[in-house]
Amino acid sequence: MVSNDTLFTRAQSIIPGGVNSPVRAFRSVGGTPRFIVRGAGPYVWDAEGRRYVDYIGSWGPLILGHAHPAVVRAVQDAAARGLSYGMPTEAEIEIAERVCALVPSMERVRFTSSGTEAAMTAIRLARGFTGRDIIIKFEGCYHGHADALLVKAGSGLLTHGQPSSSGVPKETTQHTMVLDYNDAQQLEDAFREHGKRIAAVMVEPVAGNMNLVPGAPEFLRTMRELCTRHGSTLVFDEVMSGFRVALGGAQSLYGITPDVTVLGKVIGGGMPVAALGGRRDIMEHLSPLGGVYQAGTLSGNPVSVAAGLATLSEIAKPGFYEALAAITGDFTARMNAAASAAGVPFCAASVGGMFGIFARATPPASYAEVMQSDKPLFNRFFHLMLDAGVHFAPSAYEAGFVSSAHDAAAIDFTLAAATQAFGQLTLQAGEK
Ligand SMILES: *Cc1c(COP(=O)(O)O)cnc(C)c1O
Repeated sequence: MVSNDTLFTRAQSIIPGGVNSPVRAFRSVGGTPRFIVRGAGPYVWDAEGRRYVDYIGSWGPLILGHAHPAVVRAVQDAAARGLSYGMPTEAEIEIAERVCALVPSMERVRFTSSGTEAAMTAIRLARGFTGRDIIIKFEGCYHGHADALLVKAGSGLLTHGQPSSSGVPKETTQHTMVLDYNDAQQLEDAFREHGKRIAAVMVEPVAGNMNLVPGAPEFLRTMRELCTRHGSTLVFDEVMSGFRVALGGAQSLYGITPDVTVLGKVIGGGMPVAALGGRRDIMEHLSPLGGVYQAGTLSGNPVSVAAGLATLSEIAKPGFYEALAAITGDFTARMNAAASAAGVPFCAASVGGMFGIFARATPPASYAEVMQSDKPLFNRFFHLMLDAGVHFAPSAYEAGFVSSAHDAAAIDFTLAAATQAFGQLTLQAGEK
């Protein structure tokens, strides 16, 4: 049997950092990533044969758990008929019709292979549609790694953003403004000053890339109102929250209709599928009908679409989200009880099937509050849980995911481990 350490050393000698996406490298928590051999339901097994209850769920897509039989069967059937054609298929129409029926703000939809592509296209589309350049995004929200969206707040309020990655020219981000999440006043100030030049506001209505921070209803309502008043495009990035917090996404929870929605993760059920969709008059600016260019060799790939359709069929069954939200809510309530019984400053919160575990006494409502988490404490908790066979996201700043496969056995196992871990943390605090 090969060890995770051996694999990580070998991986680092050929792949930068040993991983194909940075957060997998454990840089934030230290230690060695687990190299996964297989998954089933709520569990994954690593190269050393150790089992973990998995709360990463491939970072969101696996709402049915690992290797769900209906999804695996759909993928096998599709693969046997050919992996890709580069010509249209009926299944693409079916998934388009299904997604638009579930998310009524989407009158037209275009499929891509990654959330990054879909988000990048959404801002190009908003700019093409409005003939304006400025994009507003919020600190702590992630919309994939397109140049114009890799931006952090500039020095002063309402100044334009600075690139948050090297290799991004300042000119590329000069039209992107970065504001504070859940600050409606700041958004109003930005519109007062720049309203006629704002092409789009892009937001995660439930933010899941700075751990979990739900949008304040007033913040999102103000955003909708300002976009309508100024002719700007409201883009909800629901790559994570779509089909995760509710069947109709965060927009159905808040009762707010965006102009354009970006989806990903759950719609592919673990295969590479993402999409952008919205108002017909906006979407028809996309090529080949309109002048906004977008394309993809593997977009609408038949095997990926089969996985997406099988997943959508399962999650649209009556009671699916009620059950998922109940499991997740019960899980976070028990985590809260265990933490407070041990007297450690940890708390948990959930929206639908996603949750946050915070190394602070109360759930954060802003990026600044997320940043006030006790990161060393989180890291100790993470490793105690990992050693006990529970795999949370390896960072204090990532959301977690429960699947419909997380049964009482998996949750009870997790709570027993957490109770022990919190006890350890109390002891360690006492020794200081
Ligand atoms: C994951 C994510 C993306 C990027 O999707 P990829 O498929 O990783 O490119 C964009 N927006 C949000 C909100 C996400 O959570």
